[in-house]
Amino acid sequence: MSHWQKILAASLTSPAQLGQRFGIDSEPLAAVCRRYPMRINPYYLGLITGPHDPLWRQAVPDPRELTDTVCLEDPLDEENLSPVPNLVHKYPDRALFLVASQCAMYCRFCTRKRKVGTAQMAVSDETIRAGLDYIRKTPAIRDVLVSGGDPLLLSDERLAWLLGALRAIPSVEIIRIGTRVPCTLPMRVTTRLAALLKRFHPLYVNTHFNHPAELTAEAARACSRLADAGIPLGCQTVLLRGVNDAPLVIRRLMHGLLRMRVKPYYLFQADMSRGTDHLRTKVETGIEILRSLIGHTSGLAVPTLALDAPGGGGKIPLLPEYISQMGQRLEFVNYRGVPCSYLNGG
Ligand SMILES: *Cc1c(COP(=O)(O)O)cnc(C)c1O
Ligand code: SF4
Repeated sequence: MSHWQKILAASLTSPAQLGQRFGIDSEPLAAVCRRYPMRINPYYLGLITGPHDPLWRQAVPDPRELTDTVCLEDPLDEENLSPVPNLVHKYPDRALFLVASQCAMYCRFCTRKRKVGTAQMAVSDETIRAGLDYIRKTPAIRDVLVSGGDPLLLSDERLAWLLGALRAIPSVEIIRIGTRVPCTLPMRVTTRLAALLKRFHPLYVNTHFNHPAELTAEAARACSRLADAGIPLGCQTVLLRGVNDAPLVIRRLMHGLLRMRVKPYYLFQADMSRGTDHLRTKVETGIEILRSLIGHTSGLAVPTLALDAPGGGGKIPLLPEYISQMGQRLEFVNYRGVPCSYLNGG
């Protein structure tokens, strides 16, 4: 076993272990863990300062996961949009390819909570081959998002095989890896892994940080290794109640990401994934957070705020209103609230 695999193997997976460590009554969490698995590896556990801090809320089960009557099993209708198992083809020119069933930590707010880390998420050589076949015979797909689960939990050998097979498809222009590993298990990003990924350019990595406390020296080293391998890095952050639903927290996170050479890509309204209702925020909160960034800090620090519409509608961008009147003379209110105007062209 490699170093990172040993760390992963020492994860907390039972509420009793959690109870011992934090002196809490873990009994109510046992039923939650039977339905939705828990995995908190020693690295991420070490960042949790105590019950209900922003990292705790992301990692530790909550009894409310079992009483959510608002949200949906499959909020993005992914199963119906999969022509073959584990390949979601929703948009014309790109596809989402689920190649791993496990993660370095099971996030309580996961959009694929229905299956990630459970037997429901069956990824095998067979499903991967079927996905590759589908991509091969669908040349409209020019961008493949490799996700899961977390693809970087696959072994180096398996990743090399998979990425090699994707790269061999002439219509695949871009490969994107969606991974939370730089945040939740940064020691997985070895120099060997970075050298391996570099062989499959143009390859992008979109990672996932939600709170400034996750921007550790280890995470910075992981991002550095990837960036030094010429991999453009993006971040998809999810707005979560009691975790990061405040302008100053998001601003610190965005600035910290940029210092690690990670470009904030999306800021998501949490999906309506069953078992996560207690973590969702109001859409208005996200729009106010975005308003607090636009103009007040560099454009590089401003992600696209979006919600992914239930039923497979896709991502809908959300923007604060700046246009106060359209027409030959357009009227605006700028980021400071000052009125401005512009004479239309054309
Ligand atoms: C989010 C998503 C994509 C990628 O969308 P981008 O806006 O290109 O990042 C592709 N397919 C599916 C099914 C998705 O959910
Ligand atoms: S890393 Fe991503 S896929 Fe895995 S549990 Fe977290 S949100 Fe879900």
